[in-house]
Amino acid sequence: MVKSMFWKALNFPRFRLITLPTPLEKAKNLSKELNVELYIKRDDVMDLALGGNKARKLEFLIADALSKGCDTVITRGAYHSNHARLTAAAARKAGLEAHLVLYPPGEKISQGNIILEELMGAKIHPLESPEEADGYIENLKKELEAEGKKVYVIPGGGASAYGVLGYVVAALELLEQFYSIGKMPKYVVHATGTGATQAGLVLGFKLLGADVKVIGISISRTVEEEKERVRNLIEETKKLLEVDIEVKDEDIIVRDEYRFGGYAVISKEVVDTMKYVARMEGLILDPVYTAKAMYGLIDLIKRGIIEKESVVTFLHTGGTPIVFQKVEEITKYL
Ligand SMILES: *Cc1c(COP(=O)(O)O)cnc(C)c1O
Repeated sequence: MVKSMFWKALNFPRFRLITLPTPLEKAKNLSKELNVELYIKRDDVMDLALGGNKARKLEFLIADALSKGCDTVITRGAYHSNHARLTAAAARKAGLEAHLVLYPPGEKISQGNIILEELMGAKIHPLESPEEADGYIENLKKELEAEGKKVYVIPGGGASAYGVLGYVVAALELLEQFYSIGKMPKYVVHATGTGATQAGLVLGFKLLGADVKVIGISISRTVEEEKERVRNLIEETKKLLEVDIEVKDEDIIVRDEYRFGGYAVISKEVVDTMKYVARMEGLILDPVYTAKAMYGLIDLIKRGIIEKESVVTFLHTGGTPIVFQKVEEITKYL
């Protein structure tokens, strides 16, 4: 029964953008230091425009756009948005025109993700604040349609049921990789923002009947707000797949004590974590998402909330180009 429900996700229309699986590697030095078996799922290593978690979501979002006959996509995000960069790349690969509505935090500087979007020929629409985005996108869509374009609007972070499917199927990919090395993960820890990655993993493991605890380290919202988002996305995805399976409240685990001043605030702890992991493993984290998630993971292990000797996966969700967009803020604490 469960197997046939998962089958539906595997058979959903998908526009292939990336070569999978992404690597799963053991972090030997960190494992020794922290007394756990730490594996890193390298979703920062992909063959589409420097990769990241949004690429998995876009495989299903672009397929949906194409099935609806669209030739143009609009999406939104902060100025450092990885989702905007990957939407630009996915659109180019699928032969679509990309419009990116971008706003603070940050500013429009031709560095990091923005220079890549410019290279890929995406049209950037800079706004003063996120509050303007809804109205702006509505107007932009009308204008483009008046020019004869057929427009598909991708929500911020690719957070729709279609986007969630990217991580539903990633749950199987991860278990297959662990199976092949004779292990099974007890925890998967990752940065959670729009909640789509976490919704996908939680639903995916549930559909597979796998007892893996997914811990989302919130990078902006409180536990209550973030859990609500994850819950809603899971419900939407269940509807899309037409599956009925119970996801309990305790299946959605979010920690919000590692936000360090809030979304995209780069504190000393964040840069210290980037330095620590870079020096231990030669692994590059970004200062908005993955460094905060890694700080959280290390702290949860130190506090015994993640038990010693457990098999833990850190899902590296990408974001490396942000390092080259936030050089000044990072340099302050180097
Ligand atoms: C968008 C993003 C996240 C958050 O993923 P959600 O699915 O939106 O929760 C985490 N890490 C990086 C690098 C991201 O770009």
